[in-house]
Amino acid sequence: MSKKTSDLKFLKLCWGLIVGAAVMTSCSLNPKIPVVADEPIERMVRDEAAKILAAADPRGEFSDYRFQLSAFPRRDLLGLSIGRGRIYINYQLAQLARKNSYHRWLLRQTLAHEIAHELAGHANHRGAVANTSAALPGITARHLGLAGPVQFQNYSVEKELQADFYGMTYWAKLGWDCAIWVDILREFQRQNYVGDSFHPTGRRLDQALASCAAIRQPPTAPMASAVSSPSPH
Ligand SMILES: [Zn+2]
Repeated sequence: MSKKTSDLKFLKLCWGLIVGAAVMTSCSLNPKIPVVADEPIERMVRDEAAKILAAADPRGEFSDYRFQLSAFPRRDLLGLSIGRGRIYINYQLAQLARKNSYHRWLLRQTLAHEIAHELAGHANHRGAVANTSAALPGITARHLGLAGPVQFQNYSVEKELQADFYGMTYWAKLGWDCAIWVDILREFQRQNYVGDSFHPTGRRLDQALASCAAIRQPPTAPMASAVSSPSPH
């Protein structure tokens, strides 16, 4: 019973969740991000991730990736990609994804976004990342449950928008409706969740609307797209 109450509480907090990502400033450090072992939930996350990876990188090897659960202290952090295929997913998000469809789709959005960071090699673009250390609130080591001298640097807003864009193209390959992606961001906005400087909800939504409209263009040839909406003419 109390579990249900806390789920609801989390749900409320989570309407405004962001899809976060950061990159370690020193690749020689092995991040000890606290992880949670929960096999049934991990299997569900892996299954969802495998579908997205198959669409995103058909020749890629699933075994090159590692998906782990973490109960991030910063509760609006949904996912994290740190390069070399290492992706962390918010444990509570994954738990809720088994229970309701909103969070299942939020998990799919998060996974697509983080996989896009990996495939785009964002964690390796060190020079490009270096110019993003603005004095604006982003994700810090503490938000990840890390103590000590480890520093994280957020991806630039351009990389965040690029990860959204690529993620939505993976959804399209899977036949997943981009309108759901858009609606998740609309829900953030309805909840007055503006994101942070690296994940501005407004810009993410604007881009998602434009991308989704392009994806849903009527096909120019028969069988052109599995996700196209009914032709408007
Ligand atoms: Zn990101």
